[in-house]
Amino acid sequence: MGEARRAGGAGERSAIVVGGGIGGLAAGVALARSGWQVKVLERAATFGEVGAGLSLWPNGVRALDALGVGDQVREQALAETQAGIRNTSGRWLSRTDTQELARRFGPVAMIHRAQLFDILRAALPAEALCADARVTRVGLRGQRVEVEHSKGVSQADLLVAADGIGSSVRRSLWPQAPAPRYAGYTAWRLVVDTGRRVPAGGESWGRGERVGIAPLADGRTYLFCVANAPEGQRSPGSELAEIRQRFGRWHDPIPQLLTAADESAVMRHDIYELPPLATFVTGRAALLGDAAHAMTPNLGQGANQALEDAATLAVLLDTYPDVESALAAYDRHRRPRTQLVARRSHRIGVAAQWHSAPATALRDLMLRLAPSSTLLNSLTPILGWQPPGRGDLGAAHIG
Ligand code: FAD
Repeated sequence: MGEARRAGGAGERSAIVVGGGIGGLAAGVALARSGWQVKVLERAATFGEVGAGLSLWPNGVRALDALGVGDQVREQALAETQAGIRNTSGRWLSRTDTQELARRFGPVAMIHRAQLFDILRAALPAEALCADARVTRVGLRGQRVEVEHSKGVSQADLLVAADGIGSSVRRSLWPQAPAPRYAGYTAWRLVVDTGRRVPAGGESWGRGERVGIAPLADGRTYLFCVANAPEGQRSPGSELAEIRQRFGRWHDPIPQLLTAADESAVMRHDIYELPPLATFVTGRAALLGDAAHAMTPNLGQGANQALEDAATLAVLLDTYPDVESALAAYDRHRRPRTQLVARRSHRIGVAAQWHSAPATALRDLMLRLAPSSTLLNSLTPILGWQPPGRGDLGAAHIG
């Protein structure tokens, strides 16, 4: 691809990324690898992540490969060997054929968020990382974008808004965009150290409640608990006491994990999702990650989709002759796909959170009867994603 075809011009191209979460850092890495001068503005005092695990699916791992950090992630992640759905007494309702999944698509990897974060941060030049920089205003001025933040005013050729589900950039530049909506359930996340690795991961489904267990490479266990609850409700006592009371009599090793858990490790967040947006781009600005398509976590795909966004955006900017047409292609590539994943994730959440006894009995029966190939086949469009190759997108999409 010659210089003349690179969006942003033949000279040095500059980009501002608002938000230094997984999406923002990944976008920074992808753009820096393509030769963009990048600045990632993060409002927090440090670049860091919450103490929880993250499932990286084969599509996300392929995106990380495109970002040049796949090997480091594989070194630190644990490939899932057992997965599926159990009932509250531990009977398997559905087992995922992880070997067949790995054979078809590559393994699912569990990683601590902090580890992924460290890998992405280290892949960026130090001068690209600007912490303690809360963005307060963004403006699009012809061929330039201007961003006011707590450390001053910055200008660039491209703006990537990766400032999460509550994105202030989205509110400002996409004023018609709908607001996030509450999914009807809340989640507790924690990492527990019991001194030995749990034998199997997977989810356990009850009535309006769920638990997920995922072993991490260092022997600790990532645990998440989900329950239907009114928006904003918090436990009058401790959140750990609340989940012990709700889930402490479920099957092993859930009680043991909850007993070993530390109160300070428990994080509780209500689950929100963003209704579908009409566009991810405007002028020289693009939404990425949760700012564009925050989805419920039922498929464990939110961050994976952000990684795909980042890998795709960088390739498109190298493929198209100007930023605007590259961003139009980014919208065409990313919006339908991420909105499909979000819809599916939403639907799974509805069934997983059913509360009525007849409905959950029927659901559990259907899960028991469904062949495991049905699940794998249904995941093919999501897990089979391949990073676009430089060159092969252009021909199909430059109109
Ligand atoms: P965020 O992580 O929200 O990052 C946005 C960043 O922007 C933040 O650092 C914020 O401080 C910064 N920011 C905001 N406003 C400003 C401003 N004005 N100026 C400067 N900085 C700003 N996904 C998976 O792929 N796998 C999973 O297993 C998984 N599990 C999940 C479990 C739960 C319970 C939840 C809630 C989500 C889960 N997800 C999972 C989804 C995943 O966490 C998100 O999709 C992902 O973290 C989004 O990353 P992001 O960078 O787009 O947004």
